[in-house]
Amino acid sequence: MATALCGVSTVCSSNRRAGEVDSAANIRTCLEGKKQLLMDQRTNPRRCSRPGKATKRTAPLRVLSASYSSSTAQPRKCAVLGAGFAGLSVVWHLLKHSPKESNLCIDIYDEIGIGGGASGVAGGLLHPYSPKAKLLWKAAECWRECQNLLATAEAAANARALDSNTISARRLVWRRGIMKPATAAKNVDILKKNAQNGLGSCRLEFMNRDAAQNLLSNLCVPFDSAVYMPQAMNVHPQRYLQALFLACQNLVQDFTASGYKRKEIHVYKETINDLGQLAGDYDVVVLCLGAKANMLPELQGKLPLRLCRGVVAHLALPKDKSGEYPDGSPSILSDAWVAAQGTRNLVMGSTWDWSSKNSSPFVSPEEASTAMDELTTKMSVVYPSIRNWTLTDARAGLRAMPPLTPLGSLPVLGCLDEIVPGSTNCKYWIVGGLGSRGLLYHGWLGKLMANAVLLCTEDVLPLELISWKKKQ
Ligand SMILES: Cc1cc2nc3c(=O)[nH]c(=O)nc-3n(C[C@H](O)[C@H](O)[C@H](O)COP(=O)(O)OP(=O)(O)OC[C@H]3O[C@@H](n4cnc5c(N)ncnc54)[C@H](O)[C@@H]3O)c2cc1C
Repeated sequence: MATALCGVSTVCSSNRRAGEVDSAANIRTCLEGKKQLLMDQRTNPRRCSRPGKATKRTAPLRVLSASYSSSTAQPRKCAVLGAGFAGLSVVWHLLKHSPKESNLCIDIYDEIGIGGGASGVAGGLLHPYSPKAKLLWKAAECWRECQNLLATAEAAANARALDSNTISARRLVWRRGIMKPATAAKNVDILKKNAQNGLGSCRLEFMNRDAAQNLLSNLCVPFDSAVYMPQAMNVHPQRYLQALFLACQNLVQDFTASGYKRKEIHVYKETINDLGQLAGDYDVVVLCLGAKANMLPELQGKLPLRLCRGVVAHLALPKDKSGEYPDGSPSILSDAWVAAQGTRNLVMGSTWDWSSKNSSPFVSPEEASTAMDELTTKMSVVYPSIRNWTLTDARAGLRAMPPLTPLGSLPVLGCLDEIVPGSTNCKYWIVGGLGSRGLLYHGWLGKLMANAVLLCTEDVLPLELISWKKKQ
């Protein structure tokens, strides 16, 4: 049954076992799920459901921190808009860190479904370094929290695979490292210097051509220098997000089984056209809308985000061609990148179209062909055999790029009281501008945001991440 009594529901899943995850690919319609939710509400009025007009509260909104200690029959209600890396990380951390003695109901809204935006198409390359192998701001924290979330998602997926066949034990993560050959003479010394300042948990090794080719035989190393990140990895973003959502569902069930206060999560496949659509329904609304945050009328022109469309190409090696990608060899980072997902499956990316605001994942044959030409040309400089591989699919996403600061491009976090008309008491929050590093950032940002929401204060957020508001 879709709306299991343990407080977990996914829309459009009434024919599935409780807990099975809907993805962007397989969500068809939310009508069945919604009908079920409404029926459950009639038979069980304590159930948390998306309130319609008739159930809208007219009383002033409660402030979470003020009412947290007094337990009431109504769950605290929180809406998370967007089910990408940012949104699901916020959901996980809200569930994980909310007091056991408090009710919490989280409604997730996504117009496409889990992984429906940039997260679902990302290449999934994960490491904490800049293009010149310089450690990024707060890299250690980001790396640690991301590893925690990956482990959580993997554990949930493995447990489910053992339990049933609803999610197969297909890989979420390839821990094969990443190789970055120098592609310009001027970068050799910089890479060498930066390689001395890597993280202990994600080391950097500077090496010559022979050593690099020992790890990846067909690699070209034009300047006899490469940086190898043995602990870097690539993630299958859709599988990962589905597994993370499953972990959230499991956490809700664990709370219920332990006899603590009620936690609930629900997913609604619904477009939020303006924040007024949710008015009165929630104590807190967290916006994790990626590149489309700017498109809400309340936020138009108020977020310092630039948009950039990118295409990734999925490649296969034709049966009659030799030159398999060696099993276990590192993925490659260069002017383009390849993420190896098997000996005959690669993902290659990505393009940067700063003039496009198109967020559609669908790629026309013309766009695919242009992207393929551009990416193959770049990649063949360091991996010439890429020319033997053929395109099987192309997908695209819109990045939300934050402005460059002296610390690098930093995401945009904070409470939107000063920005959203009528907002008070930290009702609206944003996690945005994850740029091209959503995977690295999402664990840490989700944890920070959940902490701020639960304590109802922006004071726990690093100043660097909220300083964008001063410039408004
Ligand atoms: C081609 C490409 C390759 C990339 N490769 C990598 C990589 O290898 N490694 C890496 O770390 N990062 C990569 N990135 C960046 C990464 O994808 C982003 O940083 C990350 O996905 C942002 O996550 P998010 O949750 O903020 O946004 P999104 O994933 O875009 O999530 C926003 C969600 O909100 C939903 N939504 C939007 N508007 C509405 C609305 N009005 N109502 C309801 N729902 C709505 C969308 O459907 C979407 O699911 C890549 C990006 C692109 C485009």
